[in-house]
Amino acid sequence: MRELTTLGPGRFVAELNILTGERVFATAVVREPGLVLVVPVDRLQEVIAQDQQLADLIVQVILRRRQWFLQQRAGLQIFGSRTSPDARRLQEFATRNRLLHVWVDLDTDPAAGAVLAQQGLDPSDAPVVLMRGGEVLRNPSNSQLARAAGLGTAAVPAKTFDVAVVGAGPAGLAASVYGASEGLATAVIDGLGVGGQIGTTSRIENYLGFPVGASGEEFAERSLLQALRFGATLLVPRTATGLRGHGRRTGPAARP
Ligand SMILES: Cc1cc2nc3c(=O)[nH]c(=O)nc-3n(C[C@H](O)[C@H](O)[C@H](O)COP(=O)(O)OP(=O)(O)OC[C@H]3O[C@@H](n4cnc5c(N)ncnc54)[C@H](O)[C@@H]3O)c2cc1C
Repeated sequence: MRELTTLGPGRFVAELNILTGERVFATAVVREPGLVLVVPVDRLQEVIAQDQQLADLIVQVILRRRQWFLQQRAGLQIFGSRTSPDARRLQEFATRNRLLHVWVDLDTDPAAGAVLAQQGLDPSDAPVVLMRGGEVLRNPSNSQLARAAGLGTAAVPAKTFDVAVVGAGPAGLAASVYGASEGLATAVIDGLGVGGQIGTTSRIENYLGFPVGASGEEFAERSLLQALRFGATLLVPRTATGLRGHGRRTGPAARP
């Protein structure tokens, strides 16, 4: 357990994971008598959808807090060598799923061996993932890492969606923003994570509206936040195995 910060009166805690339904990264301890307001997620989503000013503030805080978590090296740690395909697979999976993580390069980080030794491991066990709670995963599969990180463990909402977008790459995320912003109940599904190919790009220079460019990770995260802000539901990692029609949909959501 590590203390990250102390919050005073009037401050609020918000994490992107609250909106995605994934496991949150930080817990809180109340140290002094006071009043803590707990806002249920559906109420938070309503506020974000209806109150532009408050939504701007919450979204900015979520983005900044995430950067801050990264600076604090608050996420899980992946120990591996750049030459190991499994280590690169785990890093890509963590990046594409926006898992807060720190990459510890066994070839260049002189302290890496000592950290592994504390866990009774040595570099030949790599790639190794150290989870925040102390759990150690030796060369886990993507789905083992996803489960340990609480990805995709949130229950799928028991409702019929108006739109199911398969793929959370730039095209799918854009479709989700447009669907959800038109008031359609929209689910976006991806077998790997958010961002598609662009999520692995170090710098995008040619996208309209980003004059100084953006990293693929930042682009994916901002696009996801935009879709969530309009109420889209993210389902990852889940693969669509088929599409079937069940007759004609009727009602207000059906569009010609
Ligand atoms: C290294 C690299 C650098 C790039 N740099 C740039 C750049 O600077 N500028 C630029 O304009 N373009 C760049 N591109 C190209 C850009 O990334 C692609 O054009 C863009 O990602 C295509 O978007 P998309 O949503 O159509 O598809 P994709 O990005 O391919 O996304 C498709 C998504 O669908 C998911 N999926 C597929 N089938 C299923 C299924 N059955 N169930 C669930 N999920 C499924 C996949 O997991 C994937 O996430 C780059 C690409 C790469 C690889």
